[in-house]
Amino acid sequence: MEIACLDLEGVLIPEIWIRFAEQTGIEELKATTRDIPDYDELMKMRLSILEKHGLGIREIQAVIAEMAPMPGARSFIDWLREHFQVVILSDTFYEFAQPFMRQLGFPTLLCHKLTVAESGHVEDYKIRQPDPKRCSVQAFHSLNYRVLAAGDSYNDTSMLSEAEAGILFKAPDNVIAEFPQFPAVDTYEALKMEFCKASERDLNP
Ligand SMILES: [Mg+2]
Repeated sequence: MEIACLDLEGVLIPEIWIRFAEQTGIEELKATTRDIPDYDELMKMRLSILEKHGLGIREIQAVIAEMAPMPGARSFIDWLREHFQVVILSDTFYEFAQPFMRQLGFPTLLCHKLTVAESGHVEDYKIRQPDPKRCSVQAFHSLNYRVLAAGDSYNDTSMLSEAEAGILFKAPDNVIAEFPQFPAVDTYEALKMEFCKASERDLNP
C-alpha cells in the first residue's frame, strides 16, 4: 500500500509569508526555509518582525483571504487522491492553511499551531514535533505504507530522504544542486509522471 505526502507551500499554494511581505512592504519577511534552513530561527525572526510592526493574525488572514492555490493544484491533488491516500505535511499553521483547504477539497493536513492572543497578537507557535516531516514518514512506515513524497525546499529533504521515493517540485537551483539524488520537476504533469514511475502499481498520469 502506498501513501503520497505533499508539502503545501511552494507545491500547492504560494508562499504565504512572501505574499504577506509583498502586501506589507516588509522585505525581511520574504525569507523562507529556502533562505534560512533552521525553522525555529526563521519563525522567531518572523514573530519579532510582526511585533515590531504591530501586525497580528488578522492582518495575515486578510492577505490569505485574497490568495488562491497555484493554477492546476486542485486538479493535480484530485488526480493524486484517486490513486493514493494523500497527506499534506506542512510547516505552516492551521490558522493560515484553512482557507486553502476548502479550495483544495479538504485533504488531510498535518501542520503546526499558533498561539494567538485575544488582540490578534501572535504570541508563539507550537511545533507539532521536532523534524515533523521525517517523523510522519517514519510513522507511515510503521503502519506498513510505502511512502512517495514531493516538496520544494530544505524543510522537505528529510521527508524526501525518508520516503521510498522523493521528488523535488519547483525547487530553487541551490536545493536541486545540493540534493541531486531526487528527480526535480516543474509542472504538475511532470510530477504526475514521477508519481507514476515511483509507484509499484501500473498507473497512468
Ligand atoms: Mg514548501
